Amino acid sequence: MSQLRWDPLKLHWVIMADEQSRKPRDFFTEWRTVTTTLCPFCYGQEGRTPAEVYALRPDGSPPNQPGWRVRVIPNKYPLLRIEGELAPRGVGLYDVLNGIGAHEVIIETPDHQRHPADFRAMELADVFRAFRARIMDLRRDGRFRYIMPFKNHGLEAGATIPHAHSQLLALPVIPPRMRQTLHACREFFHRKERCLLCDLLEQELADGRRIIHADRDFVALAPFASRHPFEVLIAPRRHGHDFCQATDAVLLALGEVLREVLRRQRSVLRDPPFNLVLHTSPTAVPRPGRPDLWHSLAQDFHWHLELVPCLARPAGFEWSSDFFINPTPPEDAARFLREAEISAGV
Ligand SMILES: [Zn+2]
Ligand SMILES: [Zn+2]
Ligand SMILES: [Zn+2]
Repeated sequence: MSQLRWDPLKLHWVIMADEQSRKPRDFFTEWRTVTTTLCPFCYGQEGRTPAEVYALRPDGSPPNQPGWRVRVIPNKYPLLRIEGELAPRGVGLYDVLNGIGAHEVIIETPDHQRHPADFRAMELADVFRAFRARIMDLRRDGRFRYIMPFKNHGLEAGATIPHAHSQLLALPVIPPRMRQTLHACREFFHRKERCLLCDLLEQELADGRRIIHADRDFVALAPFASRHPFEVLIAPRRHGHDFCQATDAVLLALGEVLREVLRRQRSVLRDPPFNLVLHTSPTAVPRPGRPDLWHSLAQDFHWHLELVPCLARPAGFEWSSDFFINPTPPEDAARFLREAEISAGV
């Protein structure tokens, strides 16, 4: 079983994925090839994956056969497993948890060749519906403190299978980066009784320099202190802490804005590898002795997507200091993306 290990010096968790332990040769560059023969995510290959936990099957077809539009399966090589006890313990100075959680794969389309920027808004909305359904289901398990769907596109971004898919991890701890954001939002709300992200969206819309796209429902912007060139934040204009409360109409509008941004990104940066993550509210598990922890969550947190093209690898200074150097200021990035030539929608 994998383990979660806490570093008391650097204050981070690491998943030690020991079951698939990699040998030195697995890291040799010439081995990093992708075999596309008999892709397990294609139609007709359903029997080669673990049994599906969710699927959109408009024709009412039975599970684990063709007929699906979006299909969710447990990861065949999960980083974290559902079965077992967390068994939190100290090992001397260190904290250790068993690798309990969930690791699922969302196959976004039956079409092996489909590029995410070519998805129709409705198809992206279907992927978001799968996220929503899976988060709601996994939240019922009190061991999971945070559920994070994410997408890696392209080999350099971590996608080892080219067929369009996302993943989802249900974690037994709140990731420290997320905890910092939750804390900042809560502090801001306690001082001002306003949502930080609502205020930020209002300010950015009034300023306009970092806005990439804005419509009735969503804003896509280049964050003021973007760490990465061409980083994008997409947030609903109407306040909501929980992605799972978004209606189908909101998810369709999210599909529209994401499609717009992905097409602009592909055009300006010539189809870069990218990562996309959803940040929604954590599972509000009551904690003994901390009754105030989540009581303003619904007012203080505001769900959003973050999209980061992989254009530069973090180098020594970045990983050692958590201090990033961004060679493209967000004002420039937003302008390039706004002015991108994209063909009219399909
Ligand atoms: Zn495929
Ligand atoms: Zn808000
Ligand atoms: Zn975020």
